[in-house]
Amino acid sequence: MGNERIYLSPPHINDLEKEYVAEAFATNWVAPLGPHVDAFEKELAAYVGSRGAVALSSGTAAIHLALRLLGVDSGDTVFCSSLTFAASCNPILYQGAQPVFIDSEPESWNMSPEALKRAFQACEQSGQLPKAVIIVNLYGQSADMEPLLEICNAYGVPVIEDAAESLGATYRGRSSGTFGAFGVYSFNGNKIITTSGGGALVSDNLEALEKARFWATQARDPARHYQHSELGYNYRLSNVLAGIGRGQLKVLDERIKARRVVFQRYYDALSHIEGLDFMPEAPFGRSTRWLTAVTVNPEKCGVTALQIMEALDRENIESRPVWKPMHLQPLYMNCAYYSHWPEESVSDKLFANGLCLPSGSSLTEEEQAIVIECIKKAIAEA
Ligand SMILES: *Cc1c(COP(=O)(O)O)cnc(C)c1O
Repeated sequence: MGNERIYLSPPHINDLEKEYVAEAFATNWVAPLGPHVDAFEKELAAYVGSRGAVALSSGTAAIHLALRLLGVDSGDTVFCSSLTFAASCNPILYQGAQPVFIDSEPESWNMSPEALKRAFQACEQSGQLPKAVIIVNLYGQSADMEPLLEICNAYGVPVIEDAAESLGATYRGRSSGTFGAFGVYSFNGNKIITTSGGGALVSDNLEALEKARFWATQARDPARHYQHSELGYNYRLSNVLAGIGRGQLKVLDERIKARRVVFQRYYDALSHIEGLDFMPEAPFGRSTRWLTAVTVNPEKCGVTALQIMEALDRENIESRPVWKPMHLQPLYMNCAYYSHWPEESVSDKLFANGLCLPSGSSLTEEEQAIVIECIKKAIAEA
């Protein structure tokens, strides 16, 4: 193992962030909230083009608050993309509601309008429509929002966009995360920009965002003594971390450019290999290529995605399978699931054959050449 470990998507921090953090220390504004939080919210909202934003301790917290704002409660059902990270749907359980999982379409790997339609038809027949639909935008790419929203609007069901992985991406020229009633971003350490840990809720509904702020700061009634009429949470982002976020937001466009260059290098070096296919970039939008994801056809490549992953691991290179779909998770085993084709699931296949490659914006050309050689060798020697 000659080389230093090459990570999937490590944090990429610059000097600007340090200045903002130093400012927070210099003014003793280390405690929760403060000027960086307010500025970060304004700057994020301006960047994505939403009327407002609330800075939170995580993307998961943002999803939780969005569900509660939409009145999701025990006994309700919520539709959610199946091919995603568990944080997309765990907050449904926090609220005591039941998720119903929707498959991906092959064109974008995101929620299938076909599957969504069938799920709505089935629920209409059983007499219970979902309270909300969580549409996830995977690996830097927006879902096909127009047909998805058309279906949801026809049933009058609001949409939460989980854009934790798609900050900076666009759909028909508009920012991913701004199409639903609420949008969610994450600034976790592995995301395209990071505050070490953090998230945000965006919306054009400023009143709802004010309510989210209230719940996220322990739902303290306006009284000098500590008085509570509603259940709250400790979900706000600290002023120090918001300082990091402000610096990171300023370099977001550079980070997107760098990730797309990483993707293009993989594509140029590997796309000629029969049976190795890249996650498509659907014509309706522009992906950030947060992670470069491929599928490996074992019949054509002679190796499985897992075997390539193991070969990379032996060279001290981190890679990951595509998300294990939620309908296959032990925790969600008994939840309803609607596949893209009536008899065939897309997300099962993507999970079985999918592989995410090191895609960090700080990945050097030399490091990437090592990754590429390792993949070529694993396939050539199969
Ligand atoms: C990272 C992620 C989240 C959760 O964000 P946190 O800030 O880590 O809580 C939610 N959904 C998706 C799809 C994610 O990738």
